[in-house]
Amino acid sequence: MLRVGVNGYGTIGKRVADALAAQPDMKVAGVAKRTPNFEATAAHRAGYAVHAVGDAAPFAEADIPVAGDLDDLVAVSDVVVDCTPAGVGARNREVYEAHDTPALYQGGEDAEAVGASFNARANYDEIARGDAEHVRVVSCNTTGLSRVLTPLAEAYGVEKTRATLVRRGGDPGQSDRGPINDILPDPVTVPSHHGPDVNTVLPDLDIDTMGVTVPATLMHLHSVNVTLESDVDAEAIRETLADESRIFMVPEHARVAGPGHLKELAKDAGRPRGDLWENCVWEESIATEGRDLYFFQAIHQESDVVPENVDAIRALVGDADAAESVVRTNRALGVGR
Ligand code: NAD
Repeated sequence: MLRVGVNGYGTIGKRVADALAAQPDMKVAGVAKRTPNFEATAAHRAGYAVHAVGDAAPFAEADIPVAGDLDDLVAVSDVVVDCTPAGVGARNREVYEAHDTPALYQGGEDAEAVGASFNARANYDEIARGDAEHVRVVSCNTTGLSRVLTPLAEAYGVEKTRATLVRRGGDPGQSDRGPINDILPDPVTVPSHHGPDVNTVLPDLDIDTMGVTVPATLMHLHSVNVTLESDVDAEAIRETLADESRIFMVPEHARVAGPGHLKELAKDAGRPRGDLWENCVWEESIATEGRDLYFFQAIHQESDVVPENVDAIRALVGDADAAESVVRTNRALGVGR
């Protein structure tokens, strides 16, 4: 049983902790939190041992029992998943190194600072075979692109990818983000950093991306154009993508207009927090013209990286290969159901 510590218990951290707790081969060693807010209270109520980063006194005032500090959590963990805000993770690395404990970081960290990047579909086996002890799970957008581009490259060869990422302004809980009434080229310079980020897990892929940020919180929407190496018809592409366990092909009969409907669908299905761990590809949007493929997909930024974190743990310190780990993770969470 792998003991996993979760440092940072916000949007990603709380989902990762619950996903680990659901795995038959993993156990949450505890979670570390800096601020004793409602999420810290929820962690305690969920039964996780809460460790205070910094001053523990405010936790006592909030009636949250403290199991120790970050060092104590790392000491009882075989591996740590760092889910702290972007930039903080890299600073925590020395704590993990001092304990000789492998660690995962999130997409907000600088790829070069961490060294190795991970997506289960793109490079699980490479990470499992290698000797990296510190690995970054790529961002929500990069995860979404890697999941579709890997099978397309395997089946047909990809000459060039162009994608426009229509990004949510902030997560539902982020009242300080925006815009609230605008549509921003973001970044205004082209191409955006997302393409190079895909190259951290798929180094040979030729990809250019553009970003737009809109007043929405639910999901990102990708408009994707892939030039394949040969002519392919749309039906073949539908079959290829439908074979992927982390791609949900949104059927025409479901009449899903956008992320609002997708989130309702997830909640109606009883998904925890209304999470959509899979890429949501509109079946009807898949169109081909010669070697050019077009489609739309929606990406739930709060949850698509969650199963990837679980797999990254096995790649780093477990003994499962990619196929085995993905099946185990999917089964325990209900991915694809
Ligand atoms: P968040 O702000 O929701 O959560 C961060 C948590 O870390 C909070 O609980 C905060 O109190 C805690 N924290 C702050 N400083 C800390 C410290 N020094 N030590 C321990 N805990 C500390 O952030 P998030 O959205 O969960 O993002 C975490 C990481 O995941 C970032 O790298 C981000 O880029 C990445 N990510 C976020 C999303 C998303 O859409 N939210 C998607 C994919 C990846």
